[in-house]
Amino acid sequence: MPTQVPEPIAMVVKQAGDVRIHTVVSPFTSGNIANATHIIETRNQLVLVDAQFLAPCASAFRNYADSLGKPIERLYLSHRHPDHWFGLGTAFGDIAIYALPETLSFIQEHGEDSVSDHWKLGDLAPSRIVVPQKVASPGDETIDGVRYVFDQVVEAEIDFQLTIGLPDLGVYFAQDLIYSGTHLYLTKQMGHWIRVLQKMLLTDYELFMPGHGLPADKSEVARNIEYLSAAQQAIGNGLADEAFKEFMLQRYPERRCPGIFDIYLPRLFGDASDY
Ligand SMILES: [Zn+2]
Repeated sequence: MPTQVPEPIAMVVKQAGDVRIHTVVSPFTSGNIANATHIIETRNQLVLVDAQFLAPCASAFRNYADSLGKPIERLYLSHRHPDHWFGLGTAFGDIAIYALPETLSFIQEHGEDSVSDHWKLGDLAPSRIVVPQKVASPGDETIDGVRYVFDQVVEAEIDFQLTIGLPDLGVYFAQDLIYSGTHLYLTKQMGHWIRVLQKMLLTDYELFMPGHGLPADKSEVARNIEYLSAAQQAIGNGLADEAFKEFMLQRYPERRCPGIFDIYLPRLFGDASDY
């Protein structure tokens, strides 16, 4: 019998003229990490952002996109963490997938290892690997009448991350630069990550689409800065591993998805592999 995972939730979070922004968020409960994937629906077509992690969530995201009754023009993959691209192999093998060149070559070279490292997922893992075929590059592009601004952020939550802005709508797809209402996946680049978020606060964007959790405003961006600063300070004071986790759980009881600690602690405080 297939493993049961609670259904993702789907909603329209903004409408302006004939453009609608949708988000599909996987469960916050039982070890899940509320992966957030999004759809930009324009007059004639859909553009998707990220692909979900677990197979049933990826299928649910695809079914939701198909239910809108417009062709999927393309999908942008934000970065190479498995919880964003595993779903490509489950549900998006027939779609044009764009990613930064570093993301694309990582999945090409390490995709198979990454899936075997996740053997515990069983039938929740993708049955095949789909590698993005198209290179996304920084710059402006108009797609179906909407202006997109693509950019890359280096050395924050990941070495290379794609960001997408829709300046005329005030919407910014920050993906894993923001964890909205959930615990953050911390890396050794917290100082630079804080500076990236500080710059984000100075933009005219108003709606921030995260990689985990529900759509956010600038106060959530500010709370992420505060969280990163507290983590940096705790590490500076000598906290590590379980003691660090306990400290953060106590300091942020309102944040959800504590399962993320067990994913990153061996990488932050040890030398566990990067995929
Ligand atoms: Zn993520």
